[in-house]
Amino acid sequence: MSKDKDSCEAELPLIAGIDLGGTQIRVAIMQGMKMHARIATLTGEQTTPERVLPRIYATLEQALQEAGIPLTEIAGIGVSCPGPLDNRTGLVHSPPNLAAWLDVPLQTMLQEKYQKPVYVENDANTAALGEYLFGAGQGSRDIVYLTISTGIGAGVIANGRLLEGVNGSAAELGHMTIDWRGERCACGNLGCLEALASGTAIARQANQAIAAGNGAALLKFAQGLSEDLSMQATRGKVTAKTVVEAAEADIPLARAIIARAAEAIGVGVVNILHIFSPEIVILGGGVLQNDALFLEPILNIVQQRTMRANLADARIVLAALGADAGLIGAGSLPAYYQLQI
Ligand SMILES: [Zn+2]
Repeated sequence: MSKDKDSCEAELPLIAGIDLGGTQIRVAIMQGMKMHARIATLTGEQTTPERVLPRIYATLEQALQEAGIPLTEIAGIGVSCPGPLDNRTGLVHSPPNLAAWLDVPLQTMLQEKYQKPVYVENDANTAALGEYLFGAGQGSRDIVYLTISTGIGAGVIANGRLLEGVNGSAAELGHMTIDWRGERCACGNLGCLEALASGTAIARQANQAIAAGNGAALLKFAQGLSEDLSMQATRGKVTAKTVVEAAEADIPLARAIIARAAEAIGVGVVNILHIFSPEIVILGGGVLQNDALFLEPILNIVQQRTMRANLADARIVLAALGADAGLIGAGSLPAYYQLQI
C-alpha cells in the first residue's frame, strides 16, 4: 500500500508497543504514531528474564489502565529488543545488555500470556521502521538508518521492506570493515565502524591516550565535570559524552578523537551509498547529539568520496524521533506485518 499516513493512521489498529532496553522498559498504547499512554520503568539492576518479564507485564498493564483501553481492544503487540534475536521465532539470544537472556522465547511467552499476535524485532530495525514510517524517512521507500551510541546499529529498508537477509541478521552496518588492518572489534572482526566510532570506542581512545600520558587537558576537563575531583576517580573513566563536550570546549585531543570518529562514520556512509543507493541516510543515536561536530566532517567525506550517481539523489539527515524511534517502530510492527504498511 502507499505510504499516505493521513489516510492510513485512522484505520490503524490499537497496538501495545514495548521497547525493552538494558536501562529502561518503555510501553505505549499506540495507534500509528499516536500514543494513548506511555509508561517507562527501569529495567533494573538484575536483568534476568525472571526479573524483567514481570516488569514488562506490569508496565504493559499499567499503560492499558492509563489509556483506559481494555486488553480486548488491542490488536497486537510489537516488541523492540536488543539483538541478537530471531525475528521469525521471537527467540532472544543473549543480548550483551540483558544478562542471562539465553534463548528466551519472548514472542511465545507474550503470546501465551495475552493471546495476541506478537512481533519481536531487533532494536535497530524497529528504530529504522519508526523513522521510516513516522520520522525523517517519511515519504522515502529506500532508507538506511544508522544509530551511533554505545555500539553502532543499523536498519535498512529497501523498497518499503526491512532488509532481513537469510536469517534476520542483515544490515549489521556497525560491523562493516572501515580499517581492514584495524583494531579488533568485540564481534571478532578487525577495524569495524563500531570499533572506531561508537561511544565505547570514543571513550576507549580517550582513556588510552590519558593512560599513555597524552591527555592532561582532557583529564582536567573531565575532572571539572566530575563530582569526585580526585585524579583516581576520573582516570580510566572518561565517557564519550565527556569527550564530545571537551571537543566543544576546543580541547585538541578530544577534537582529534571526534574528528577521527566522524571520518570513520563518513567512510561508512560512503559505503552505504555505494551498496544500497538509498534516498536517505538517517543518522541517530546519543553520540551524535552534538551534530555540528560530526555532521560537517561526515558530509565532507561523503562529498569527496561517493560516486556521483549514488550521491545525486541521496540525502544525509539526522534522525527525527530521538529515543522514541524504537518504541514507535515496535508499535508499528503488527501493522507492518499484518497490513504490509
Ligand atoms: Zn565488529
